[in-house]
Amino acid sequence: MPAIDKFERPVFSLRISITNRCNVRCFYCHHDGILPQSYEMTPDEIYRVSKIAADTGVRKIRLSGGEPLIRNDIVEIVEKIAAVGFKDTAITTNGTLLGKYARELEAAGLNRVNVSFDTLNPETYKFITKKDYIEKAKDGIKKASEAGLYPVKVNMVVMKGINDHEIWDMFHFCKENNAILQLIELLKADNQSSSKFFSEYHFKMDELEEELTQKADEVKTRQFMQDRKKYFIEDGEIEVVKPMDNTEFCKNCTRIRITPDGKIKPCLLRNDNLVDLIEPMRQGYSDEELKKIFLDAVQNREPFFKECSGN
Ligand code: SAM
Repeated sequence: MPAIDKFERPVFSLRISITNRCNVRCFYCHHDGILPQSYEMTPDEIYRVSKIAADTGVRKIRLSGGEPLIRNDIVEIVEKIAAVGFKDTAITTNGTLLGKYARELEAAGLNRVNVSFDTLNPETYKFITKKDYIEKAKDGIKKASEAGLYPVKVNMVVMKGINDHEIWDMFHFCKENNAILQLIELLKADNQSSSKFFSEYHFKMDELEEELTQKADEVKTRQFMQDRKKYFIEDGEIEVVKPMDNTEFCKNCTRIRITPDGKIKPCLLRNDNLVDLIEPMRQGYSDEELKKIFLDAVQNREPFFKECSGN
């Protein structure tokens, strides 16, 4: 049974950011709400944090960042967390190093991968990431499928005037590579909120969702995933990921996060309530004591947006 917070939200998913470093510079990046840090947990520390979370009922784990694949010990990290025995072990990556690692990661116990990849146009790719890595990223997606990672999901942040005209090309590219296309609505990033960036590029998904509904052979709604819609079209699949800064998201949030330096981050949208797990670990706390710290952090979780959450 998963741990449940005061707002009756079960916590069965863990997202560990294993580094803040990244090899691309996406201009819209919100850095998963994590502030820069210098320390990165070791593979053994990541294992122990994961094990403690699993002991409280967490069933799914995802590594993220920064770019998780730029850590030289990424295969060792995956091997260790896979040994914990989660129902699902996943990574979110920009894919540029996936061509190199897909097979090793699969053999180490990785189940699934999300690849952030917004465009098939080399110029647009360079505009977004400031790098010439488009072919590496495409190769990463292909190799992930070939390695048997399943599902491979392609995360496309849809932006007005940048890549909104590429949705169907991206859908066919994904189909060719046995991948599922996830269309992500642009969020305000902290560093950009005061700039024109959001109003300039934000693409409203409503009309697109109508088009998807019309084209779909079947539409499914994913419970516990913000009622996310899955559209099944011509043997392919598209998911739409709605914004995370609203009451609906908070009400259904089942995820807890860990920062690269080993702090529990109970809420994506806050950094003033982090709970240190690594310092007690270094001081020699037992698994039971660490589990209590984790459970207290879960207990004290609060929805960031409460108004309509019934609380
Ligand atoms: N480096 C990894 C990657 O590229 O997938 C993991 C970190 S990245 C911050 C995680 C996800 O956040 C990516 O899918 C990215 O597209 C998404 N993301 C970042 N900034 C965003 C924004 N402003 N709005 C919507 N999604 C965003």
